Amino acid sequence: MSAVVGRFAPTPSGPLHFGSVVTAVGSFLDARAQGGRWLLRIDDLDPPRIETGASEHILATLEALGLEWDGEVVYQSRRGAAYRHAVERLASADLIYPCSCSRREIGVGPYPGTCRDSAPPPDARLAWRVRVDDLAVTIDDCLQGHYTQRLASHCGDFVILRADDVTAYHLAVVVDDAWQGVTHITRGSDLLESTPQQVYLQRLLGVPTPRYAHLPVVLDEHGDKLSKQSHAPAVSPANAALTLYQALEFLALTPPRALRGAPCTELLAWALPRWRLAAIAPQARAYRFQS
Ligand code: GLU
Repeated sequence: MSAVVGRFAPTPSGPLHFGSVVTAVGSFLDARAQGGRWLLRIDDLDPPRIETGASEHILATLEALGLEWDGEVVYQSRRGAAYRHAVERLASADLIYPCSCSRREIGVGPYPGTCRDSAPPPDARLAWRVRVDDLAVTIDDCLQGHYTQRLASHCGDFVILRADDVTAYHLAVVVDDAWQGVTHITRGSDLLESTPQQVYLQRLLGVPTPRYAHLPVVLDEHGDKLSKQSHAPAVSPANAALTLYQALEFLALTPPRALRGAPCTELLAWALPRWRLAAIAPQARAYRFQS
């Protein structure tokens, strides 16, 4: 049996749009084409970003698309103990420090390290930051190639636990991917820039670095990434077959016209043996999605 484990990890800030379906389909096909498992995790960590009913809508859409996941759905909102444990490990190795700076004090650009060596004021609301060193982190992305970042000049010491006590995205993702045994992360290229921070945390926590493939993001007719902010239309489970056909087309797998409107199981059976990550052009591009 294959040791490949892939995953899809949407934030339930709204229903899936075409761009997120492309990521779901890409990560599914990549894992399954290698005989691997494909897991589903709902990244519902940040209460203000969560929309009521979005998780259920996402699950229903994935089911309608025929993207069957393995095992139980993991919800980040139930993983607090694991994140606390990771924070304690980093603290006991003196790799993190409390920070009382407000957003306004920090301004734009990398965190200047104001609180790095000073004791925070008593009763302040504290975030926790991880110390970064001045080394470059390079990832070898299957689609985007080599990507190098110096954390010190890109972001500086970054937050792993927010002042409102919510675990920061980078830490939660690293802890969960390691715990779920994820070996292959296939996700949108908008997350390429955050990957070095995650790889850095993997090294500090002594967990393996998965293989990364950052798929091109889908742009709308104005050149903006499809997202909730750009008012990308929600994908309806009732329209799953046509949506899947278009997602395959975006991923360099053009099914024969005769399969337009064919059931999702048929489309996926056609696509699986033809899946080739290397055939996908890495650049973001527009697609006229018909909903
Ligand atoms: N939850 C993140 C999002 O929806 C993706 C996390 C990941 O794939 O690492 O943007």
